[in-house]
Amino acid sequence: ATGAEPYDVLVIGGGPGGYVAAIKAAQLGLKTACIEKRGTLGGTCLNVGCIPSKAMLNNSHLYHQAQHDFKSRGIEIKDMSLNLDTMLKAKSGAVGALTKGIEGLFKKNKVDYIKGTGSFASPTSVKVALNDGGETQVEAKNIIIATGSEVTPFPGIEIDEKQIVSSTGALDLQKVPEKMIVIGAGVIGLEMGSVWSRLGANVQVVEFLEGIGGAGIDGEIAKTFKKVLEKQGLKFKLGTKVVDAEKKDGKVYLNVEDVKSGKKEQLDADVVLVSIGRRPVTSGLNLEAVGIEKDERGRIIVDDAYNTTCKGVKCIGDATFGPMLAHKAEEEGIAAVEVIASGHGHVNYQAIPAVVYTHPEVAWVGKTEEDLKKEGVEYKVGKFPFLANSRAKTNADSEGTVKFVVEKETDRVLGVHIVGPNAGEMIASAVLAIEYQASAEDIGRTCHAHPTLSEAFKEAAMASYDKAIHF
Ligand code: FAD
Ligand code: NAD
Repeated sequence: ATGAEPYDVLVIGGGPGGYVAAIKAAQLGLKTACIEKRGTLGGTCLNVGCIPSKAMLNNSHLYHQAQHDFKSRGIEIKDMSLNLDTMLKAKSGAVGALTKGIEGLFKKNKVDYIKGTGSFASPTSVKVALNDGGETQVEAKNIIIATGSEVTPFPGIEIDEKQIVSSTGALDLQKVPEKMIVIGAGVIGLEMGSVWSRLGANVQVVEFLEGIGGAGIDGEIAKTFKKVLEKQGLKFKLGTKVVDAEKKDGKVYLNVEDVKSGKKEQLDADVVLVSIGRRPVTSGLNLEAVGIEKDERGRIIVDDAYNTTCKGVKCIGDATFGPMLAHKAEEEGIAAVEVIASGHGHVNYQAIPAVVYTHPEVAWVGKTEEDLKKEGVEYKVGKFPFLANSRAKTNADSEGTVKFVVEKETDRVLGVHIVGPNAGEMIASAVLAIEYQASAEDIGRTCHAHPTLSEAFKEAAMASYDKAIHF
């Protein structure tokens, strides 16, 4: 508070970017505080994003598997049914435990946790409207903005979080809708669409583009992914623009238009999920007063050391450039604090993985074939299907492929794209390969345990410079 010794580092926002930055700063011996308005730490990711969605994805998968897949494995269950209330409670339990855990980490590392809403009073001081009432002013030598992102609204479609929901409402539906329409076939649409489809909803996904999976997905992988989801019952309406929506007699009616022909159609659903992307949260920060500039998409402009256009103020995570991912925000949190402490901090943006937590999972890192064609880089491709992997066959879970994209002349790994069981864990090896600038042969000559899914990873690497053994 006013009059006290200024903090070395003050972080605004307690999400994955902000809380990690705060803990790292304290660990480096800097006097640190973190302001968070939500009432709990962990940001979008822990409260209404990564964590609750993964709880619902995991449990809905188990339910679906028990219903449709156990019998062929010799497991017969009588009288199985869904208790959605318990499933939602399990989700909330995971969220509560993890957000409390961050509070514990703050105490352990001596980070001061200020519960309130921050806004700039000057480049070195932040006014905080406290959650418990009243106001305080906090002084700091360095300030890090980590205010994250929020749902991009759809003009003309008002989110009520009951019938027309964002991801937040979709994580907490009290009843399985008979029919659900998802607007946007990006990560949120496919993950939440999968959840409710597995629990019994008839799910239709309407997407503006001709492909699914959102930005950065490899075109070939996206096609496989779409087929896999269609087999599970999801329906896609691609190349289709949503125009507007109206609520009538307990239903939502969506007016859509074919992008090419302009042909109009009306669709109806019990619940509509709006998942057309997210936008940075910066309103209320009083950025204008300290000269912090944003780009045309509302992202806070930073240089390669995370400095905003106001000296002493940095920005990380969803509020600035780059993919909106929790692990990207965390890496930036650490790098920004290291810049403050030592003058040096670095994130390798070529080696940030992306994972879609459907079943099977989809994961990738590095360049797609489309990227390399555009850049004029000569490359080779190595692929290995899970159908030819002994563990995947044994598990009767063998949909998908591992795909390596390597530089033609050097065999250097440029990108890895996986659709398949455990792709999200497997991608870590690919991230290491890119981080260490490995060649495909480095991986092909590394012993992988048998029988594991990771042998598919090794054999796809082999296929890019030589031949796979089992396919
Ligand atoms: P946030 O997590 O958004 O945190 C910012 C925090 O700042 C918020 O808690 C907010 O209350 C607080 N804040 C804002 N303004 C102020 C202020 N003025 N004063 C005080 N506090 C303020 N990413 C993944 O990597 N993997 C996933 O599986 C994944 N799943 C997702 C699922 C869903 C449904 C959603 C919506 C997102 C998902 N994401 C996932 C994205 C991930 O949640 C974000 O990339 C990540 O949370 C960004 O972290 P951040 O710290 O930049 O911001
Ligand atoms: P997204 O950008 O991934 O996908 C949005 C999709 O909506 C795009 O395919 C876009 O073409 C489509 N779209 C946009 N306007 C449309 C319109 N008018 N009609 C039809 N389609 C339209 O956004 P998202 O799925 O909302 O996710 C937001 C962010 O959250 C992403 O940046 C993502 O990285 C992050 N997230 C990550 C994970 C994960 O890592 N597993 C999970 C959930 C969310």
